[in-house]
Amino acid sequence: MLKIDATLGEGGGQVLRTSLTLSMFTQQPVHLVGIRKKRTKPGLLRQHLTAVQAAQTICNAEVQGAIMGSTELTFRPKAVEPGSYQFAVGTAGSACLVFQTLFPALMATQKPSNLVLEGGTHNAFAPPFEFLDQAYLQRLNRLGWACSARLEKAGFYPAGGGKIVFDLQPQRGLDLGEWQNANWQTGLGLAVSAHLPASIGIRELAVIRKELGFDGQVLALPSSGPGNAVMIRLDGSEPLFFCSFGELGKLAETVAQEAVDACKQVLLSQVAIDEHLADQLILPLAMNKGGCFTTTQPSLHLQTQIEVIRRFLDVPIRFNQDAENRFWVEVGSI
Ligand code: ATP
Repeated sequence: MLKIDATLGEGGGQVLRTSLTLSMFTQQPVHLVGIRKKRTKPGLLRQHLTAVQAAQTICNAEVQGAIMGSTELTFRPKAVEPGSYQFAVGTAGSACLVFQTLFPALMATQKPSNLVLEGGTHNAFAPPFEFLDQAYLQRLNRLGWACSARLEKAGFYPAGGGKIVFDLQPQRGLDLGEWQNANWQTGLGLAVSAHLPASIGIRELAVIRKELGFDGQVLALPSSGPGNAVMIRLDGSEPLFFCSFGELGKLAETVAQEAVDACKQVLLSQVAIDEHLADQLILPLAMNKGGCFTTTQPSLHLQTQIEVIRRFLDVPIRFNQDAENRFWVEVGSI
């Protein structure tokens, strides 16, 4: 049994989720200790527990320690079974992060599956639906990891209750996944809200127009509770998304400015992949044994992903910094 100290690197839920994915993929049993130990609320929260239970269901794993607040878990997988599954986080915890735990393991079966996931769809500190659908999934299409996603209902904090339907149709990959050049032609602001005045979105889009010159759209989403997110989409062959999230007492202008600042950082650095997408793409690329992208200074999340990947997979991952201060991440021996 592979033992992993889950306090490594970032020490958050990502160590757990990536370990579950790779345990299913490699069929390597894993024993995690110290899960989210340094967080204010340590151990498994609803989102993490749902990821564990969902992973257990799709591969009929033997599991110990799958209870709320647990900082220790053993997971002994059996073969992943493609099929139709439905899982609910039960709170506003991110359904998108639960998806990212299951998706690579189901894709590796090379057979179609359907997933219905309920919970948060637009959470701070997690990829929102549009990012998942257009930045993450569109790129993975190239690896043959074809998947369509439909947002039936948005889930904002604290009400949750969002719903996303995924149709996984593995195909033969077209290339290894290489994203090197930043050739953004244009951009768009998106202000998504539920049960809030349209004026909030209009103010947010005004900031984006002033700072970046991009037009925008205000979108009202069906949702159980109120919420607001600002997204900036950079359009090239596949888009990038920069997202920030409204909260009570935070000015609409501040929410928009956060997304603008993240977008400007990428535009200035001339990289192809932003900080968040970098730590999410590295896992599929490592499972696929190849790929390459340019990104900004590697985040602790990215470094943590690589640490966890190295425990399970024997695949070279290298960083190089070029004269323009871009970081090249190379997976495999390309
Ligand atoms: P914690 O244990 O710290 O509570 P968690 O389980 O909620 O964490 P993390 O381990 O921090 O989650 O992983 C969060 C994931 O969400 C990372 O892949 C990160 O890149 C991604 N993420 C965070 N913010 C954004 C954002 N604005 N846009 C896209 N992805 C994001």
